[in-house]
Amino acid sequence: MAGMWWARRDLRLHDNPALVAAANDAAITDGSAIALFVLDPALWDAAGAVRRAWLTSSLSALSDSLDGRLIVRHGNPIQVVPEVAAAAGAEQVHIAADFGPYGVDRDLKVETALESAGRSLVRTGSPYAVAPGRVTKSDLTPYRVYTPFYRAWCAHGWRSPAPDPDVWPEWQSASTGTLSTQGWPTAPAGIELPAAGENAALDRWHRFCEGGLSTYDSLRDRADLAGTSMLSAHLRWGEIHPRTLLAELGDSPAHTVFRKEIAWREFYADVLHQQPSSARTWLNPKFANMHHDSGAEADSRFEAWRTGTTGYPFVDAGMRQLLAEGWMHNRVRMVVASFLVKDLHLPWQRGASWFMRQLRDGDLASNQHGWQWVAGSGTDASPYYRIFNPVTQGLRFDPAGDYVRRYVSELAALPGAAVHQPWDHPLLAGEYPDRIVDHAVERDESLARYAALKQVAGAEGGHE
Ligand SMILES: Cc1cc2nc3c(=O)[nH]c(=O)nc-3n(C[C@H](O)[C@H](O)[C@H](O)COP(=O)(O)OP(=O)(O)OC[C@H]3O[C@@H](n4cnc5c(N)ncnc54)[C@H](O)[C@@H]3O)c2cc1C
Repeated sequence: MAGMWWARRDLRLHDNPALVAAANDAAITDGSAIALFVLDPALWDAAGAVRRAWLTSSLSALSDSLDGRLIVRHGNPIQVVPEVAAAAGAEQVHIAADFGPYGVDRDLKVETALESAGRSLVRTGSPYAVAPGRVTKSDLTPYRVYTPFYRAWCAHGWRSPAPDPDVWPEWQSASTGTLSTQGWPTAPAGIELPAAGENAALDRWHRFCEGGLSTYDSLRDRADLAGTSMLSAHLRWGEIHPRTLLAELGDSPAHTVFRKEIAWREFYADVLHQQPSSARTWLNPKFANMHHDSGAEADSRFEAWRTGTTGYPFVDAGMRQLLAEGWMHNRVRMVVASFLVKDLHLPWQRGASWFMRQLRDGDLASNQHGWQWVAGSGTDASPYYRIFNPVTQGLRFDPAGDYVRRYVSELAALPGAAVHQPWDHPLLAGEYPDRIVDHAVERDESLARYAALKQVAGAEGGHE
């Protein structure tokens, strides 16, 4: 008989309540436990090469810290988990609860399969400081707007980091299925990923605490500076838990702003949990009537956006950063997303699925709702229809042009902020693409489409 921990989005040993629960099972039996990760084709096939490479590297790191005893099996968890539990003689399978639409459904099915064999699935903890569904208004309905959610989330509070188990179990390997990195994906050519895994996550966090955290409030929006934590992929795989971060924050303005960003991740997880269909469709259903472009010209504009050849330097730099690093600065994510939806008139879902395929931190809740926020169909509480100007955003958040020059080689010779308006500049070598659209024209077009949408919604009794 053994304790059993099924790791999913909690690829770490410390501050891990589900692992502690499995260790407690081990402690009252023969002291042994198994750690399982299931490579589920449904998730593996949908993840892009960058995210697969990150996962591979994170699993290697986890296995190293388990003396090479992480059991990795390919297959459908509904079959694999009960099989492994039976082979190990584990009565309980310990997990951190998943709140994504696919994960909830999968876990219910795994639970049923385990129960039919007299075993149980035990959920302890989640990837969030406060589990989705816990923060509600006084009438128990969920929040749709971030700021009141944030206040209630703070008032709700969260636990301190979980202590390590009193006694670490003896990790057992299985005769088949232990991790082999042979034939596993590495990052696609041209992409260099930073180290994955718990040690790398803790190291990054400690370095950020000593460096960027104290200026986070003033520099986090600057695309040209390394002013943010770069923890998103580590958080996405649970190599570090938000509790670990929150426990070290004080009340300075910089710390408060960082706590607020962690809360955005929690808010979007909550919104997706309350409305799973918002992963695919408009949170505000009136936007389903928005007129979007399609056809050959729309496709060729999408292609220019995807490849960073729109002729707008700040947009192109962002899209090329995504291709080169599998990551993009948050401010630039907003600008490129706005450009796709409001300058190219394409549905947010098209951009969101490209992001999900390219991002190393691709997370359904943060990504789909980050996109919906920009599209105006999501949780943005702003009373006006926000349209980012790709040039002024560049001038403001990359004032000396360093960010653009780093990613757009055609503009490398242009000095300072001139990179943001390179058209007709004498130093422009000529290879930089022409602008695919005129922002001023498309802005008006976007506002006209929004006005038409409001009229339809008004006629149908909808509201602003
Ligand atoms: C269109 C769009 C798509 C996005 N897609 C994703 C995604 O797939 N995965 C993802 O983790 N984030 C996504 N974000 C949010 C944000 O851009 C990234 O979390 C952030 O850039 C990651 O860098 P960082 O770790 O240095 O962030 P920091 O600024 O250091 O923030 C710390 C942590 O707070 C969380 N956070 C910060 N800002 C946000 C935000 N706006 N929404 C949700 N969480 C936030 C992240 O977990 C982040 O790691 C998206 C934003 C937009 C506008």
